[in-house]
Amino acid sequence: MVGSASGQQTASLVWRGETFPIAVSRGDFSVGDVARSLGLTVSRDTTTGTLTIATKTGRQLLAGPGTVQVPVEQKAVEVSKPVRSVAGVLYAPADFFEKALFPLAGVTGAWDPAARVWAIATAGRPAVQPGAPVTVDVAVVHVDPTTQVVLRESTTARFEPRLVESGLQIHWTDRKVVPPFAERRFEDPLVAAVRFEGDTATVVFRDPKLTAHAYPLTDPDRIVVEVARVVESPPIEPAAPPPPPVPALTIVIDPGHGGAETGAVGPDGLQEKDVTLQIARRLAAAIPRVISSRVVLTRDSDSAISLDDRTSLANHERAGLFLSLHANSSRAVGAHGSETYYLSLDTSDRVSQDIARRENVAPAAAPGSPEANPDLDFILWDLAQSAHITESSRLAEAIQTQLNVVSRTDNRGIKQAPFRVLAGATMPAVLVEVGFISHPEEEKQLRSATFQESVAVAIAKAVGEFFTRRQLATTPAVGLAVTPPPAPSPGATPSPVR
Ligand SMILES: [Zn+2]
Repeated sequence: MVGSASGQQTASLVWRGETFPIAVSRGDFSVGDVARSLGLTVSRDTTTGTLTIATKTGRQLLAGPGTVQVPVEQKAVEVSKPVRSVAGVLYAPADFFEKALFPLAGVTGAWDPAARVWAIATAGRPAVQPGAPVTVDVAVVHVDPTTQVVLRESTTARFEPRLVESGLQIHWTDRKVVPPFAERRFEDPLVAAVRFEGDTATVVFRDPKLTAHAYPLTDPDRIVVEVARVVESPPIEPAAPPPPPVPALTIVIDPGHGGAETGAVGPDGLQEKDVTLQIARRLAAAIPRVISSRVVLTRDSDSAISLDDRTSLANHERAGLFLSLHANSSRAVGAHGSETYYLSLDTSDRVSQDIARRENVAPAAAPGSPEANPDLDFILWDLAQSAHITESSRLAEAIQTQLNVVSRTDNRGIKQAPFRVLAGATMPAVLVEVGFISHPEEEKQLRSATFQESVAVAIAKAVGEFFTRRQLATTPAVGLAVTPPPAPSPGATPSPVR
């Protein structure tokens, strides 16, 4: 819909199968329109222009021109920008409704900017109001060896998945579907297109020899369709000679930054990308001395590589561990010591958030890779690592304990932060900030072969402990066979269908 010259537009609110028009002004919604649609009582103080909005049980909130702290019952709820009065009508930003008005009414609402619809559901109860549509958004991400298609929904909805010749169909059974498009093609190795017809979406396979399964996730509501290659069982042949023993465990070490992207630079000019590569090489040599394994580096030269490609490589190699190496920097004078991080979308503190933001600046995806909604992407990635958070935290703890000995500093602790490079990893994954390159003394240390070697040995020791402890906890164990490690070889075979 196109706005008129005055900036007036309209939107709709859909609740219990009925559609209500809502006046819109410069992206804000008419408070009175929304409140009345939800069956709330609206009364206006003619002198101040303040609206009192009340439920049938007498719970109320007040909204007047300029309100930022919205009085709701006994509390004040802060919204992102003030309520505005335009020609006597009050308009409020989306979060006014999400934080204040919808909770008062006992509903939840999702705004779909493409369809210009507020989809309302009764809070705390699965919305099974026939007729209320579900707005669907699509993202396609390939995390080798599978492709995940995420159908994000404006509200929970029942669906039935069905494998057909051309792909996997999702049929919504209790709601009409508001699709984002009729059909979109994707440059993806497994998924050719996503198509909507009626209340059915088809994830179209690029090749008939693919399979898929679907599962729902909440918060936000979404359906994940995972597309994979079918692994054909090999024909049973008698007594082929056994292949040479290969360590079952692959460890991927990721030297942070590279190429034009130097990372942090020390006061004496030492570049993070060089330190991380030097320590990574030492670590690659140290780990097989502690535990039988094949070690692969995401880069073994001064080359640029995207964050997502680093994790993709680890996934492709079916690594049992992913270690990303970095050097810290801080404007705070005297900040020193090492820190080990594992993934979280929340951060333990402000500083961790800042570090994650700094480390996330590298290009996330390779140029030309399929575009996807970055927020949705992160949710999807998070899903990959979320299965391994507990193990990642154990690994982080083991590494940090060893590093505290090396750097003889106070425990800076293990921390959680939303590092993009960890998010897509389908194995335990941590990011180590080996020291502060911004600290003149530590910069000197980071440059020295002795210190680099002791950091590498400490991390290797922690990796050994991590797997030993895991072997004690579970059987069969991974990678503890005592066999000499062969040289890293590219080209892992696709994983079996999960
Ligand atoms: Zn870094």
